[in-house]
Amino acid sequence: MIAAAIGCQPKMLIADEPTTALDVTVQARILELLKELNRKNGLAMILISHDLGVVADICSRVVVMRNGEVVEQGPIDEVINRPRHPYTRLLIESQPGRKSYGAVSGPDRATPLLSIENLSVTFQAGRGPLGGFGTDNPFRAIDGIDLKINTGETVGIVGESGSGKSTLARSIIRLNTPSGGAIRLDGQDVGALGGEALAAFRRRVQMVFQNPYDSLNPRLTIAEAVAEPIWRHGIADRKAAQKEADVLLDMVELPSSLRDRKPLQLSGGQCQRVGLARALALKPQLLIADEITSALDVTTQAQVLELLVRLQRERSLTLLYISHDLAVVSSLCQRVYVFKAGRVVEQGEARQVLFTPQDPYTQALVGSLARLPSAPAIPLSQPVVTHARWLDCRRPLRFPFRNR
Ligand code: ADP
Ligand code: MG
Repeated sequence: MIAAAIGCQPKMLIADEPTTALDVTVQARILELLKELNRKNGLAMILISHDLGVVADICSRVVVMRNGEVVEQGPIDEVINRPRHPYTRLLIESQPGRKSYGAVSGPDRATPLLSIENLSVTFQAGRGPLGGFGTDNPFRAIDGIDLKINTGETVGIVGESGSGKSTLARSIIRLNTPSGGAIRLDGQDVGALGGEALAAFRRRVQMVFQNPYDSLNPRLTIAEAVAEPIWRHGIADRKAAQKEADVLLDMVELPSSLRDRKPLQLSGGQCQRVGLARALALKPQLLIADEITSALDVTTQAQVLELLVRLQRERSLTLLYISHDLAVVSSLCQRVYVFKAGRVVEQGEARQVLFTPQDPYTQALVGSLARLPSAPAIPLSQPVVTHARWLDCRRPLRFPFRNR
């Protein structure tokens, strides 16, 4: 899309969240490219973003909007260092990585809830969505991965786009067929499940998808979409399911006025919350969240993360959290796996891996973060002062990343 937009050398570019779906290393390259076009060709640009780090990186002026109104505007340094409007302050304070969600750790058990052994997933050339890779060699998207998740744990997966994160997630819920290795839930081979056992598995493991529009039936209203799994799995009749759906939609804070709409009539962030409500409808034990906060602005993102942590405490939900946002992963997850080209290059305690990365690839990921100019000044070991409403945090957050 970016290539298409700059192809005819426009004088002005309107970029609406151009890097939101990208991992940090690709994002850094795209931002570099945009800066260069601005320098060399005098390209004027309106960059729309919920990521203040990105805005601070490439914009000279910023306009802060809320509810359809401009609440503040001015030179970027001035707005970020001396925000006048309370909403701007909230935006700055809600930047990921400024808060610890104090994820709860689950009981350690001999058998992990989910265990993945030596998993491989290959795609045949010619079968891809764009008609293949022009070669007969099968493409290995997952190349021998081992991964374990215990009950109640929050495990993060990070890595560049294309590193196989979504493929792994889709394999767990059987949307991709592995070419080798095993996936076990409570010791049971997931690939061998059928009939009632498979239905039970689907109740226990739910996923929120990366693209919220793709994962919802465009013909169902929001309220119907959330109620559907409840009555379909025979947990309640349609009427009771509808009531339960309302409770779930309240939980993800989706206004009642939006519930009779179809997915395409919602914003990406609203739609993503519907996906979350739907995934939670069956009270799963394991929730796989694939880049679920990437499309959300930072304040909504903070709300969704808080919701997840609350659910974890209340229901001892186990969470596999896939994200290219290292700051969110470091504040939410206990353990993390770093993916590169279908392999795990580094794994371990989340803060340790992301604060003091050992592998050069993890170091490159961490080094490419776009941030507020004020953030990197915080030394590695000094805790960030947290916002008053976040005082229930267990540990103060240490801002993990040094300046580039
Ligand atoms: P990530 O979620 O980490 O961005 P994916 O798991 O979506 O990455 O993709 C991993 C790799 O597998 C990519 O190179 C992608 O192009 C390829 N891939 C994903 N799905 C298919 C498919 N259905 N057919 C062929 N290749 C695919
Ligand atoms: Mg993905």
